[in-house]
Amino acid sequence: MAQLIDGKAISARIKDELKEEVAQLKAQGITVTLAVILVGQDPASCVYVRNKARACEYIGIRSISCELPEQTTQEELLKKIEELNADKDVDGILVQLPLPDHINEDAVIAAISPDKDVDGFHPQSVGALCIGKPGFVSCTPAGIIQLLKRSDVTIEGKECVVVGRSNIVGKPMSLLLLRENGTVTICHSRTKNLKEVCRRADILVCAIGKPKFFTRDYVKDGAVVIDVGIHRNADNKLCGDVDFDDVAPVASKITPVPGGVGPMTIAMLMKNCVESARRKASAVLR
Ligand code: NDP
Repeated sequence: MAQLIDGKAISARIKDELKEEVAQLKAQGITVTLAVILVGQDPASCVYVRNKARACEYIGIRSISCELPEQTTQEELLKKIEELNADKDVDGILVQLPLPDHINEDAVIAAISPDKDVDGFHPQSVGALCIGKPGFVSCTPAGIIQLLKRSDVTIEGKECVVVGRSNIVGKPMSLLLLRENGTVTICHSRTKNLKEVCRRADILVCAIGKPKFFTRDYVKDGAVVIDVGIHRNADNKLCGDVDFDDVAPVASKITPVPGGVGPMTIAMLMKNCVESARRKASAVLR
């Protein structure tokens, strides 16, 4: 039976480490500040924004909440981002996605200063990851690397299969595994013989957005299985892209849903904010 990779416990440890770091920065007169912009009142987005504010409060990060009405124009939103870019007290800017249909997400992401792009979605951040330069990394895949490392999973030299090629999960995940010297295969909806390819994996990352899609036929004996998917089933229970009960007996380690990858995303966002404040402080000292 697979060992559980406990994202709740690992993310709690990371938050405690950050709390200490933030206290040290405060002692040097540095307050870490995150600005979160929410446009409209999408219920799921409101919950995410609230959870982020709660995490900030726990760690000691100052959070500024900018709640804008649904009918905010793209111009108004870009102006708000410009103000926050120029505000020396703000270390991180996060625009909660999705945005209302009349606003172009790409334009908004591109407007955030790469120095404050704590979500890691700016093209410059993605490019930096691609060519191995410093920059912010998308929080969910960065969290998965932490889960693997803190569960003593060696990535170097391993066959890593990532299923899903989205800009926020699959692609950065593949680049991060490559950076850790894994041998990486990326699969998507046009991949032929998906089962066979997945069965080659020592580390299998499932991020396709289809509930319980991955059964044990996709998993090699002893593989490490990371489930990124989040779905609510008919009984209002959360489940992932992996059929946990079917796969757990053959995997060596596996993330549950809930309590696996999910809690890591906010923890890594907090980590990026603290990193941003540190970079700013060391630039001032130079
Ligand atoms: P997207 O819908 O943006 O991307 C899904 C990817 O999966 C696409 O690349 C698609 O291929 C591929 N895909 C879809 N169906 C299949 C299939 N049958 N076989 C192989 N590949 C397939 O999703 P995201 O990456 O944004 O999210 C994936 C999942 O992760 C979702 O359940 C989401 O809710 C969850 N998520 C969880 C987070 C967390 O914090 N835990 C954060 C972000 C996402 P193609 O490109 O060819 O269309």
